[in-house]
Amino acid sequence: MTFSSFIPPQRTLMGPGPSDIAPQVLAALSRPTVGHLDPTFGGMMEQLKQLLQFAFQTRNECTIAISAPGSAGMEACFVNLLQPGDSVVVCINGVFGQRMRENITRCGAKAVVVEDEWGRAVTPQKLEDALKQHPEAKFVAFVHAETSTGALSDAKTLCSIAKQYNCLTIVDTVTSLGGVEVNVDGWGIDAVYSGSQKCLSCVPGLSPVSFSPAAVDVIKNRKVPVQSWFLDQSLVMTYWSGKGKRSYHHTAPVNSLYALHEALLMLYKEGLQQSWQRHLTQHQKLVAGLDELGIDFVVPESERIPQLNAVNIPQGLDDASVRRSLLDEFNLEIGAGLGPFAGKTWRIGLMGYAARNENIALCLAALKQVLSN
Ligand SMILES: *Cc1c(COP(=O)(O)O)cnc(C)c1O
Repeated sequence: MTFSSFIPPQRTLMGPGPSDIAPQVLAALSRPTVGHLDPTFGGMMEQLKQLLQFAFQTRNECTIAISAPGSAGMEACFVNLLQPGDSVVVCINGVFGQRMRENITRCGAKAVVVEDEWGRAVTPQKLEDALKQHPEAKFVAFVHAETSTGALSDAKTLCSIAKQYNCLTIVDTVTSLGGVEVNVDGWGIDAVYSGSQKCLSCVPGLSPVSFSPAAVDVIKNRKVPVQSWFLDQSLVMTYWSGKGKRSYHHTAPVNSLYALHEALLMLYKEGLQQSWQRHLTQHQKLVAGLDELGIDFVVPESERIPQLNAVNIPQGLDDASVRRSLLDEFNLEIGAGLGPFAGKTWRIGLMGYAARNENIALCLAALKQVLSN
C-alpha cells in the first residue's frame, strides 16, 4: 500500500449542501491556527457572534456556533429546552420534521404531530387546531425550509399562532438562513438552528444557534440537567460568553470558525435583502431554463424554496445514472430525492456562492446534453 495526498476534484456543488465555497472562505480556513483561548481569537469570536445576530436578525445574547453540523444544532435546541413529560407540537412535512419528532421522544417528551403532505408547506390551520386540542403543549417545532422536499413554510404565521397559545417556538432554518428572510426577533422564534454549509457557503461542521431570553429562562430553571454534557448551553456559554471570562469547555474548531466568520462577512457586505433577492433571481432563471427542457417542479410555485429546487425526474430516465454522468462528465453534483421521493425527484441547490449565473448555465447545459443521450 502506498499512500498519497488526497486531491479532490473541482466539483460544482448544486445539491442540498454542502454548497460551493467562495475562495475567500477557503483562504480564511488556511490561515495559521491560534490557541482557542488566544486573546485575538476571542476578539474574532465576539465579531462572529455579532455577525450571527445580524444573519438571524436577533439581539439574543445567546447566539453562537455549535462545534458540529446542523443535526447537532437541532439536538442542542431540543435537549436544552425539553424535559421529560413536556408536550411539543411538531409539524412534519418531510425528513427533517421527522427527525425533530425523534429528538422530542428521545428527550422523554410527548410529540403531538401535525402532518402535511410531502412537497407542501405546513398548513397554519392544522397547527392552530392541534394547539386548541392540546392546551398542555409548551413548545411548537417546525422546519422553515424542508430541504427533503423543497417546500417553504410561512414561519412568521406559524410563530404568531404558537405565541397566541403561549408556546415557545423551535425552528429549523438550516436551509433558509441567508437564502430567504429569517427574522428571529421579528417573528418570535425562541430557539433556532442553522448549518454552515448551505446558504452560508462555509465548510460543513458548524451549526449557528440562537436562544431567546425566554428560552434561556427555561434552560436556567430546568429541574433535571440537560442529558447531553457537550450540548448543555449553560456550560457551552462559559466559553462563548467573552468579557475576558472565557474558559475551556471543548477545543473550538479554530480554523472552521475563521471560515464561518469570513462567510458571514461576505453576507454582511452583500446585505441580507440583496442576498435573498439574488437567490430568488437565480431561482427564476433556473425555472425558466428547466421549463425549456420540459422539467417541472414538485412544489406549487407559492410554496417553493428558491435555493432548493425539487424537480420531477423526466419519465424514462434512470436517476442514479444521470447523476453519475453529471458528476463524471461535468463535475456537477445535484441531489437525489429522499424518502418517498427517492428515484422520483432531483434536488438542485442554488445555495450561497453556488447561486451564480455560471452555475445555472452549466447545470442547464449539462442536463440538456444528458437528456438528449
Ligand atoms: C441539512 C439539514 C439538516 C442537517 O444538517 P447537517 O449539517 O447535515 O447535520 C437539518 N435540517 C435541514 C432542513 C437541513 O437541510
